[in-house]
Amino acid sequence: AAKAEGRNNYRFFLPSMHERVKERKTIEEDLRNALEHDQLELFYQPKVDCLTEQVVGAEALVRWKHPERGMILPGEFISVAEECGLINKLGAWVLREACRQTQIWRENGMPDLRMAVNLSPAQFQDVELVRTVTQTLETTKLPEGTLELEITESILMNNPEKAVSTLKELKKLGVGIAIDDFGTGYSSLNYLKRFPVTSIKIDRSFVNDINVDPDDKAIVDAVIGLGHSLHLDVVAEGVEEVEQLQYLQNKGCDFIQGFLFSKPLPVPVFEKWVKDRNENQPRLGNPVAEPA
Ligand code: C2E
Ligand code: MG
Ligand code: MG
Ligand code: MG
Repeated sequence: AAKAEGRNNYRFFLPSMHERVKERKTIEEDLRNALEHDQLELFYQPKVDCLTEQVVGAEALVRWKHPERGMILPGEFISVAEECGLINKLGAWVLREACRQTQIWRENGMPDLRMAVNLSPAQFQDVELVRTVTQTLETTKLPEGTLELEITESILMNNPEKAVSTLKELKKLGVGIAIDDFGTGYSSLNYLKRFPVTSIKIDRSFVNDINVDPDDKAIVDAVIGLGHSLHLDVVAEGVEEVEQLQYLQNKGCDFIQGFLFSKPLPVPVFEKWVKDRNENQPRLGNPVAEPA
């Protein structure tokens, strides 16, 4: 019956403006509470070497274990945290927690593991950012090249002069910089040249249709070529199918993340997964060429 009444009908079920504002206020109060009561947890998505399919690192992705609502994904609360001024506190917690965990893993059987942490635009503007990173690296004694920060193209657009100087300071600390969701923003080639970036992550929207859409194929090929010409590592995100992996292996992409290998995992599951992957699992993609 609902269908017969026309598709516009669903608007009657949308929450009113007032309800939405109230809902947001509730999330805001709950989030403050969550930060103080250990309700946030990091999950880790493995990053694998495209060719060998061995684990080289992980990306930390925050989850909120809400006492009543269950697990909430970052898409629902990062923007709220930004708007209500909680993002820097949240971000500092994520950074410290990810680095603390990385140190433990490096001392316990994963000596070369690298860690990527996402930064939202507001965090990148924070005057405390470089200091927080410096202190975290000192406390956790992570060697240079272990921590990578993922930023989006919009960060570079907002205030390019400031961005260059912040990135240079981070680079001095031995921190890698990845451009996340590459291709979805407005970054120009000029930016890639000017900013001390170390890797680009091809957005999963391009990877998705790599084997069906010639345009996406062309974009992925171009980004891999561009990245390599500029001596950047190229990571493909959102790899879900063997055919996508094989395509990227043939094109010389450097690293892979995606559900084909694993979704983001809580700490103990990640540990078990890495052990299995590196010891027992067959390769999923192309056979490795025999050394001549
Ligand atoms: P992102 O950094 O681009 O992270 C990748 C997102 O894609 C993750 O969603 C991940 O679970 C998902 N993903 C990974 N592989 C696949 C795949 O093969 N297929 C599909 N369909 N999805 C895949 P998640 O964890 O919900 O995070 C969403 C976004 O929230 C992240 O996008 C990032 O921008 C932001 N975020 C997550 N954690 C943090 C954090 O600690 N701080 C900040 N500032 N932002 C965060
Ligand atoms: Mg990311
Ligand atoms: Mg991404
Ligand atoms: Mg994203």
